[in-house]
Order: sequence, then C-alpha cells, then structure tokens
Amino acid sequence: MRRKLVAGNWKMNGSADSIRQLLDGIKAGAAEVAAVDLAVFPPFVYLGLVEQQLSGSSIAWGTQNLSEHASGAYTGEVAGPMLQDFHCAYVIVGHSERRTLYGETDEVVARKFAAARKLGIKPILCVGETLDEREQGVTEAVVGRQLKAVLDLEGIAAFNDAVIAYEPVWAIGTGRTATPQQAQDVHAFIRAELAKLDPAVAAKTAILYGGSMKPSNAGELMAMSDIDGGLIGGASLNAQEFLAIAKAGC
Ligand code: PEP
Repeated sequence: MRRKLVAGNWKMNGSADSIRQLLDGIKAGAAEVAAVDLAVFPPFVYLGLVEQQLSGSSIAWGTQNLSEHASGAYTGEVAGPMLQDFHCAYVIVGHSERRTLYGETDEVVARKFAAARKLGIKPILCVGETLDEREQGVTEAVVGRQLKAVLDLEGIAAFNDAVIAYEPVWAIGTGRTATPQQAQDVHAFIRAELAKLDPAVAAKTAILYGGSMKPSNAGELMAMSDIDGGLIGGASLNAQEFLAIAKAGC
C-alpha cells in the first residue's frame, strides 16, 4: 500500500514573515491529515527558517532544485551537500519551469536526480508534456523519454528511493486541470514503463499529480488508482487550501 504524499512547491514566493505564518497554519492542522505525508519546498534562502520551524514536526521539507555538481566554481548554484546541512528529505528535479525557462535537458535532470540520490535525498522527478505535445498525440513519447533518461543513468532500482510527479505543463498555474482519467492514463503508463523493468519497484513508487490541484478537484484525482498524491503550486501558499487538499487524500 503506497502512502500518499502532498507536497507544496512554493516557487519564488514568500517572505520570512509570510513563511512563518504559513508554517504555523500547516502545523496547526497537520495532525488531522496524519494519514498522508506532507512536505514543503521553499526558496533556498528560507531553508534555515523552514528547518527551524519544522524540526520535530511530521512535515518534511526540501528544495525546488539542486546542482548536479557537489561543489566548485558554479556561481549562483546550490549543491546537494548544502541541502544535507539543512536535513532536506526531498528535492524536486526537472520541474517544467526549470526545463523550459532554464534549459534543463533530460540529461541534466538525470544527473541532478543522481546527485540527490547519492546523498540520500529523495528526488521528486517531474515529467510532463506541453499542450502542443498533447495535441500532437505524443504525450507518452515525451513522458517516456523523460523517464528513460533517468532509467538509463540510474537504473530501475533508483526508484526505490524516488518519487515521480506527472505534471502536464498545460495544467501548471493555468487553472486548467487534467481530468482524473487523463491523469490516471499517464500515471498508469509511467507505472507500466517501470514495471517492464521491475514490477515490485513499479508497485511501490509514488507517482504524484501536479497541475492546478486544489481542494475542489483533489479528491477525485487522488481517488484514481495510480495517483499517489499531489505536487501543489499556487494552492500550497495557503495553509487552509494545502491542508484541505491533504484531507482529500486521507
Ligand atoms: C507546480 O508548479 O508544480 C504546480 C503544480 O503548480 P500549480 O499547482 O500552481 O499548477
């Protein structure tokens, strides 16, 4: 039985004050949604604050990106060992905004996934097609290619310690959500791709849905057999909405 994970990607939002308030709100309601795992992903500079606020709680934290390198002359980058200093449990890799706005290729994403795993930080690998790709009927080809880059580098066993997030790019931040069946179809495809290599790993890998998930649609999405939680952007900036999404997964 896979436990559901509800993860909040805060993107480049928040301030020290707003983050304190947001975490107070989430902590206050966390016990009521204890049947699902919760995690938050602040901007790097607030990692210390988040660690301080969440240590000893049931809520995990991580970052939205990491460098593929462990240290060195990479101005502006943040390395995995630095995330270890702040006890990050997870790191998001290959978010579509990283792929499209910052040119991260499938190979770079695979190396970031590997860098995280090497340190015992669980990568959340984001995959997903653009609207154009969906309309051309190549969703599975795109998602399969994104997944294969990681499988080629790291092998199927790597997914014993990793999470996948299916995030159709056309649904991120647009208010347009995939229908539960559209999402389920791609989740089932991802699980089948893993199962070709190792059915046991495929059965235990958590596959989250991301893309305008909110309290009103979270229940029907998470009721689908291959949807194991959500990666939430906008709605994760509001404690009540984030908790309501988690509640829908309980
Ligand atoms: C995301 O950025 O991962 C995301 C799913 O955003 P939103 O929920 O705002 O669509």
